[in-house]
Amino acid sequence: PANDEAVHDLTDGFHLILDALKLNGINTLYNVPGIPITDLMRMAQASGMRVISFRHEQHAGYAASVAGFLTKKPGVCVTVSAPGFLNGLTALANATTNCWPMILISGSSEREIVDLQQGDYEEMDQLAIARPHAKAAYRILHAEDIGIGVARAIRAAVSGRPGGVYLDIPAALMGQTMNALEGQKSLVEVIDPAPAQLPAPNAVARAIEVLKGAKKPLIILGKGAAYAQCDDVIRDFVEKSGIPYLPMSMAKGLLPDTHPQSAGAARSMVLKEADVVVMIGARLNWLLSHGKGKTWGTAPKQFVQIDIEPKEMDSNVEIAAPLVGDVGSCVGALLDAMGPGWQAPPAEWTGAIREKVEGNVAKMATKLRNNNVPMDYHSALGQLKDIFRERPDTILVNEGANTLDFARSIIDMHKPRKRIDVGTWGVMGIGMGSAVAAAVETGHPVVAVEGDSAFGFCGMEVETICRYNLPVCIVVFNNNGIYRGSEQNPLGGSDPAPLVFVKDSRYEKMMEAFGGVGVYVTTPDELGSAVRAALDSGKPTLINAIIAEDAGTESGRIGNLNPQSVLSKK
Ligand code: ADP
Ligand code: MG
Repeated sequence: PANDEAVHDLTDGFHLILDALKLNGINTLYNVPGIPITDLMRMAQASGMRVISFRHEQHAGYAASVAGFLTKKPGVCVTVSAPGFLNGLTALANATTNCWPMILISGSSEREIVDLQQGDYEEMDQLAIARPHAKAAYRILHAEDIGIGVARAIRAAVSGRPGGVYLDIPAALMGQTMNALEGQKSLVEVIDPAPAQLPAPNAVARAIEVLKGAKKPLIILGKGAAYAQCDDVIRDFVEKSGIPYLPMSMAKGLLPDTHPQSAGAARSMVLKEADVVVMIGARLNWLLSHGKGKTWGTAPKQFVQIDIEPKEMDSNVEIAAPLVGDVGSCVGALLDAMGPGWQAPPAEWTGAIREKVEGNVAKMATKLRNNNVPMDYHSALGQLKDIFRERPDTILVNEGANTLDFARSIIDMHKPRKRIDVGTWGVMGIGMGSAVAAAVETGHPVVAVEGDSAFGFCGMEVETICRYNLPVCIVVFNNNGIYRGSEQNPLGGSDPAPLVFVKDSRYEKMMEAFGGVGVYVTTPDELGSAVRAALDSGKPTLINAIIAEDAGTESGRIGNLNPQSVLSKK
């Protein structure tokens, strides 16, 4: 009994890690269990946390990063050492690249053995390997440092430009004990983890001057603006300024894509012709052709850029008016400085854009109504476009090549943060992790529109979706391969071409194997009915949608990025 009382007064590393996370409002852990974190996951669930276990760490990691994007709190992924850590690291690097807050907590082996390279179980110097791929990387060695270590990880993830943080937890730490009361006192609640960053008044005045001189102004909204969760301020700024806007992929829905000021369907035109471009939480990286070249036309341009990261300014071209601060504070300051009686842009400019938008939308509408069997991308996506209009709270997860490019331009988003896709890297395999996180974090239904190739990177997680009975409907656009399923081996041997899969694969049976609903569809009507049924039922569903195998193009819209051989033309 004396011993029992002593144990009663103790806490340990396991409990302190969980208590530290919970104290800071982190109540969900995405993970793959195994040595040395198995008991940590059991205890987390026993303590009331939501523990979502995946089949592969990469998807647990993508889920955590998407949770970060959706909630502005770091999504947490927990993995085992060495290989599990490396699998999770891909997602951590992706989170950092996308500026999303995430913490990867990995168990690690005995420091003494790892550092002397004596060959421990899953030996790896994880901290050193994580560092270049993360915004910050820390290791906690003593139980009394867990509180401050977790606090540091949280603040590093969400403050300033958000990013991925690695937290190394040696196995021995979890078993370390200390006095329970002391332990309790050692925990740190992070006060104001992502402080507002206000732009300097002269920077605001400079931006207003540049805007006032514009004849053909344009606003570009990026996923940083979506992340910032200041939707009303952004809408006020767009509407009060009267400036046409272009949403980047994951900023779609910040204002509804059907908004009269949306220039989404006139993208090429506005990028070429605009004279002043206001970037809000978007980068002039490859997705915007680095702010120069053919895409941007020959007319001289001035950029106003809002970003929380000062180093982002002048990254590719000169920024005439840099506004460094958080999106909400910067856009709010612009709104204030505009004052009453702001002059809308010339009607010549806005009218020309409207005309272009309406023309392109009408042209597209006829393509979306075809009834070809097998389906092409347009007829299949025409159905999904209607469904997202009817059910604007549904979250769209989207990856693939043609499946991504066509869906991005065809499916309108009507509310903020309802579109999750391949992000800055254009990575394939984010679909199932994103779908799980979207369902878990928001409670809204999810439709994951997946190319058959993209789905292959993460397909085993359909079991995870079934296990947690999540309202996820996966639509696999099955065209028998990568880009196109129609390619032949030029030598005519028995091996298929490198980009081609098994013909007529029955992906829907994967879902049936785990108790979900599988549907095989070949027509637009069948597809529409199947998706509506899935959303009505909330049951995990996989719809195998057969798309013509020659409907796609090489690499979708970024075929220009493929190096070309001068010796052999495709
Ligand atoms: P997109 O791909 O949609 O163009 P990017 O990921 O390239 O978007 O750009 C997002 C930008 O938003 C990053 O440069 C990041 O620093 C910035 N950002 C993220 N959160 C905020 C915030 N709260 N306030 C201001 N800028 C932010
Ligand atoms: Mg395909």
